Amino acid sequence: MAATVNVNGRVSDQEHASISIFDHGFLFGEGIYETLRTYNGQPFLFERHMRRLRTSASMIALSIPLTDPQIDARFRETVTAAGLPTKDREAYIRILVTRGIGELTYDPAATPVPSIVVIVKPHVEPPADVFERGVKVALVPIVRNHPGTVNPLIKSNSLLNNALAMQEAIRRGGFEGIMRNYKGELAECTQSNLFIVKNGAALTPPVDAGLLPGITREYLFEVGAGAGISVREQVLHDADLFGADEAFLTSTTREVVPIVQVDNRTIGSGTPGPVTLALLEGFRRKAESLTSLKPTAS
Ligand code: PMP
Repeated sequence: MAATVNVNGRVSDQEHASISIFDHGFLFGEGIYETLRTYNGQPFLFERHMRRLRTSASMIALSIPLTDPQIDARFRETVTAAGLPTKDREAYIRILVTRGIGELTYDPAATPVPSIVVIVKPHVEPPADVFERGVKVALVPIVRNHPGTVNPLIKSNSLLNNALAMQEAIRRGGFEGIMRNYKGELAECTQSNLFIVKNGAALTPPVDAGLLPGITREYLFEVGAGAGISVREQVLHDADLFGADEAFLTSTTREVVPIVQVDNRTIGSGTPGPVTLALLEGFRRKAESLTSLKPTAS
């Protein structure tokens, strides 16, 4: 699907967007990113995404030479150039900040100017089936990065850990792949966070299990509070997942997706459960009301 791209302030269609092969994002995977989407044409939870972008940047000693309003302006300019949103299409927005162009060295002094790329394309909703029937996922053997290596707190452009896990999930016919951490506890999925439901409460692995603190995951604590559903962190193991009443995954582009099968095991009743569906509905309602009220939702 055609994208519109902003490379260091220059907007073009995807065919004309280019970046140097000496950019350390390309050479070394040195960079960080965020994925946002719009609701009612507004980048949803913009401030939270910017906070996480800056946390990721500081964890790799990268400074971002733009303020939040400057990044917001760059988003809006690119979204407008993409002809979005339309009546029935919201925008997908990805921002990447890399170390920049320089000599073949790990010394950051060689790359004084970071590269900033914004990719915008139409947001594609998962098929209705995904929400109505739920999905099968795979529990894969690839271990989530140890926090002492490339900390999963960093939303890093170096996505080999996630890509390898997802390759395995695809081989097994999974919509997503669930990864464990180095201690064998459940961590997260390759592109989303994991929740199980037990006795009416939604439980998700704690951030120090070694995972990306998803913005949707964080927002779900608030959605749960509004809906009278306890949403909390808990260390989880395989047995908790297999014995769960319900399970689901969360992400910016997928919202709340029911998990009904893990490899050859059925989870709960094998259909999307009431707590999952209540949280999905609560999430959508809150997203809708936040973005229909103000120009930029926080
Ligand atoms: N974990 C990983 C590894 C991800 O790549 C993503 C997608 N950004 C998530 C979780 C979900 O995060 P968010 O809710 O902020 O999209």
